[in-house]
Amino acid sequence: MAAEAGTGALERYEAVIGIEIHCQLRTASKMFCGCSTEIDGAAPNSHCCPVCLGLPGVLPTINKSAVECVIATGFAIEAAIAPTTRWDRKNYFYPDLPKGYQISQYQLPLASNGRLTFETSEGPFTVRINRAHLEEDTGRLIHAELDASPGGRPARRVSLIDFNRSGMPLMEIVTEPDIRTAEQARRYAEELRLLMRTIGASDAEMENGQMRVEANVSIRPRGREEFGTRIEVKNMNSMRSVERAIDFEIQRQAVAIDAGRTIRMETRGWDEARQETYLMRPKEAENEYRYFPEPDLPPLVAPPEWLAEIKARLPELPAARRNRYGTDLGLSAYDAAVIVNDAAATALFEGALAADTGAPAKLIANWVTGEYMRLVKGKAGAGKVNAGELAALAKLVADGAISGTNAKEVFAEHLDTGEPVARIIEKHGYRQISDAGALGAAVEQVLAANPAAVADYRAGRDAAVGFLVGQVMKATRGQANATMVQAALRERLDRAE
Ligand SMILES: [Zn+2]
Repeated sequence: MAAEAGTGALERYEAVIGIEIHCQLRTASKMFCGCSTEIDGAAPNSHCCPVCLGLPGVLPTINKSAVECVIATGFAIEAAIAPTTRWDRKNYFYPDLPKGYQISQYQLPLASNGRLTFETSEGPFTVRINRAHLEEDTGRLIHAELDASPGGRPARRVSLIDFNRSGMPLMEIVTEPDIRTAEQARRYAEELRLLMRTIGASDAEMENGQMRVEANVSIRPRGREEFGTRIEVKNMNSMRSVERAIDFEIQRQAVAIDAGRTIRMETRGWDEARQETYLMRPKEAENEYRYFPEPDLPPLVAPPEWLAEIKARLPELPAARRNRYGTDLGLSAYDAAVIVNDAAATALFEGALAADTGAPAKLIANWVTGEYMRLVKGKAGAGKVNAGELAALAKLVADGAISGTNAKEVFAEHLDTGEPVARIIEKHGYRQISDAGALGAAVEQVLAANPAAVADYRAGRDAAVGFLVGQVMKATRGQANATMVQAALRERLDRAE
């Protein structure tokens, strides 16, 4: 059951939202040891060593490529990269943290003062990003129910621990409390996910926890500077849940304040089934983590040459690409966004442009956002489409050598079989008849066979032409160039009058 604030609550209150995102970085090994990060589907506790199990007497070593991922992210969000940073111990006890502390970055994050701009339904919006830092992930607790044993041991609940995730490299990205609506929060998370994937820092799949989004949500009467009490919302497993959970939380807080209740600091979880947030734990005070510099690791120094090298390796970023598609190629903002949001669509579009068949970029974009997206969506295994073949097909359509309808069938077949477009067209005899002589003969036949329609046209019923065009298309098995047929029919009908 969703809480409904009284009418006008959202006009009276303004939400203040900050987002914290944890991303697992795309590296081959863990943050401070050589264990593999390929833990998906692996047997519990099969990817651990004394370092990531937190056994005494071991020493961590820094994973260089994890550091590079965070620095690359820093550049991508226009942040300042610290030339020297250090590692800190964040001390707290929890069973999934075998050392009793997490190696993180506190006072000196690798990247700070960044920002990210993205489109929303109300226009472009920019969020300031406070910091992006590097840390290690914890293990994973699994709560299970053990059946009663035949020997008489009663059923019981147990907590099991899997340390495969312990020590995985994790980047934390924290925004300033700039966000005001649930949609802005979702769009921020989507744009950041796209950025992570584009630069190769993270696969950022929310469903399997590679990307975890947490929101700090408070509301205040419109016009007031002072922030309200903030609630932390966790366990949102999709972009849609991010938007719904925040919307729910804004409504819930408005109802509570309207009813004269005090909002207390707490951590709430999102219940996907019930579509509501629930209390996980109250926050009596800010946690005291007793941070201190990690004695087992030296400060991290990033020489300018190294930073320049990482910056030079960055691919074209999503915002720049969308902008180029619009400005240089004349794509609509919608088409540019749809293509850039999807890595496979981007590769297809870029590949088709590179094939240089002379097909207009806008026409290729229409095929990518139209037929390609329509056919590939929800169809596992589809994707044999070859960029050069798509470009060739688009060129044939542009030249009027094949009808739009037939081209769609050719494309669908190419997508299924991978067969070259030219061979499919040949096989089905789809090449369009644009030869005036051949068309003229078909037109004469149809006119002779349909005197009633001819009479209708001459009586002033212009719609009769459509019927006659249809008859010619039928007679030529759809291969006639419809535009030419239409012109030839009119010319012939008007002339004989
Ligand atoms: Zn390890």
